[in-house]
Amino acid sequence: MCPHVLLFPLPIQSPINSMLQLAELFCLAGLQVTFLNTNHNQQLLYRHTNVESRFKQYSKFQFRTISDGLPKDHPRSSLLFGELITSLQAVAEPFLREILLGVTEPAVTCVIPDGLFYYAVDICNEVGVSVISFDTISPCCLWVYLCFPKLIQNGDIPFKGNDLDVLIENVPGMEDLLRRRDFPFYRLTNCATDLYCQLALKEIQSIPRSHGLILNTFEDLDGPLLSLIRSHCPQTYAVGPLHLQLKTRLADKRMSSSNSLWEEDHSSIQWLDAQPTESVIYVSFGSLATLTKKEMLEFWHGLVNSGIRFLWVMRSDLLREEEFSHQFVKELAAGCKERAYIVSWAPQEKVLSHPAIGGFLTHSGWNSTMESIVERKPMICWAVYVDQRVTSRFVGEVWKIGLDMKDICDRDNIEKVVKDLMVTNKEKLKKSVDKLSMLAEISVGEGGSSYNAFEYLVDDIKKLGR
Ligand code: UDP
Repeated sequence: MCPHVLLFPLPIQSPINSMLQLAELFCLAGLQVTFLNTNHNQQLLYRHTNVESRFKQYSKFQFRTISDGLPKDHPRSSLLFGELITSLQAVAEPFLREILLGVTEPAVTCVIPDGLFYYAVDICNEVGVSVISFDTISPCCLWVYLCFPKLIQNGDIPFKGNDLDVLIENVPGMEDLLRRRDFPFYRLTNCATDLYCQLALKEIQSIPRSHGLILNTFEDLDGPLLSLIRSHCPQTYAVGPLHLQLKTRLADKRMSSSNSLWEEDHSSIQWLDAQPTESVIYVSFGSLATLTKKEMLEFWHGLVNSGIRFLWVMRSDLLREEEFSHQFVKELAAGCKERAYIVSWAPQEKVLSHPAIGGFLTHSGWNSTMESIVERKPMICWAVYVDQRVTSRFVGEVWKIGLDMKDICDRDNIEKVVKDLMVTNKEKLKKSVDKLSMLAEISVGEGGSSYNAFEYLVDDIKKLGR
């Protein structure tokens, strides 16, 4: 039977990015591919990218769309993520049953849902279709999730007392590393009622019920953690960095394939063209993370006081508690015209690969972290929640490719870490990130670990019949 893969990403920017990269890799490998997206995100993709024409070249590829179940005028902001996930589930469950049980030509032989869609795993098992989960979060965070049941049983979580510097000793492999403040849900008060804790628990319960697990990492970065994760899911495919694997396999070595849900402002590249080599720090908090106005101002003044040039992505929904005022941003920018440039969304991969960029002030989202490693840019980490909190600890203490400013957001500290990254510690950090970047490149080259893992994945999908 012709293998037919159905990919179903979480309806937010970074999983859509990673799943589209995986979809294109499957197309290159000759598989039949269906990409299931929400109507809302598909419209944004079509509006802001060339995805439609890019995928037209693959005759065995199709997009399918479903409603996300929310009213048209719903803000779909990160603060309402729980609503989005719940409403999508109500639409996706019957759709998946119908597509898997109905007459689809050729029939779907393997479903690849986001790891958070535990119900897709249940449905596949129920109707007898193979399922391989794709967890787009960082493997270090996934490993912490996998230890949740033990942590709850031991009474380690929720935390007793307010000291966030206490070590969490019951996560194997992280005994001397993981402080409470590095924990994904560090403000957790009740596991039974916390939506995100419950989702994480369901996510890890579905892992052993999947045929395998795809992770966007590479052996030389996450080898020890991958061994631990494989004790729960032996068939774990480490195929990352996915964007680099795709770039390497595309004959035309296309620089980047934008999958942006927002319009990319390419004036940022023109501005960078006029800046000296490695003189600019790129500031972006990804697609979901928010700041309070106070935090935003501390970042702004810290950056200005450092004397370093910066390019900052200020999304219109970046502020947590207040309306974003374009006038306010204009006034800020006017005060530092020569050294600062602000856009509302950037072509991030292009920005990071630009020679004028010397470092990245990031929220430590997993895609941003991988993109920064590939482009050899050391990081300052301002983690907000979930995997970002564990990842930033790994960036600072394990891989030593950046500085983790965890929870200390004042302008003096920001000024100091920016200078440390761009001047004082530049050479040391650059050396470590250069090495990892080289290993990433080797991993996706012919015969490399991620290259081989992708080949195994495709072979396994071909073997999986109904
Ligand atoms: N991104 C982008 N332009 C921006 C900011 C972010 O293209 O101005 C992309 C970035 O390249 C990455 C994704 O959005 O692929 C963000 O994913 P990440 O996992 O870093 O963070 P999240 O948005 O999930 O918190």
